Amino acid sequence: SEVDLMRLLSEIMTDLQGLLKTDQVFDTRLDFGDVVWSDSAILRMILVNLLSNAIKYSGEGTLISINGIRQDNLLVLSIQDQGIGISKEDQKHLFERFFRAQNATNIQGTGLGLHIVRRYLELIGGKITLDSELNQGTTVTIVIPITEPVKTDEDDSAY
Ligand code: ATP
Ligand code: MG
Repeated sequence: SEVDLMRLLSEIMTDLQGLLKTDQVFDTRLDFGDVVWSDSAILRMILVNLLSNAIKYSGEGTLISINGIRQDNLLVLSIQDQGIGISKEDQKHLFERFFRAQNATNIQGTGLGLHIVRRYLELIGGKITLDSELNQGTTVTIVIPITEPVKTDEDDSAY
């Protein structure tokens, strides 16, 4: 499952269109050039979880900014929302299984998404950081090593 990263992201955004609230929009700034991704299923799961959270925990008319850059062999992707935010106290527990923040109890969720995201990131050598301000919004940043797909003889024969 080897895909062009730009294409993967636009596919995911298309898949999630139906979850967006009125006048809620994605704003992308993707500056990583040509990157081909070999573990697309894992990266897709990570991004779907993080983007679903950004959508779910913010309201109508808000912007969800997706920024992507490449720093040498690292892909740095951040997802910023203008939603309900997470208190400093709750931020300590976000990656625990079934944890839900106090201000999210009236919004549907199982509290598994971020736990799973962290597990997936471990598998591909990535890291996640989160920065959030209650009632202001949340920024989640993931850093993942880019490993170029292994070229096979078959690939060469095409040239
Ligand atoms: P699901 O398993 O369906 O993803 P969930 O969204 O409740 O359920 P997580 O994605 O693990 O679970 O998130 C854990 C908790 O962290 C959420 O319940 C919510 O309180 C808080 N949270 C996560 N992302 C955000 C965000 N972008 N803005 C505000 N709160 C968030
Ligand atoms: Mg979630």
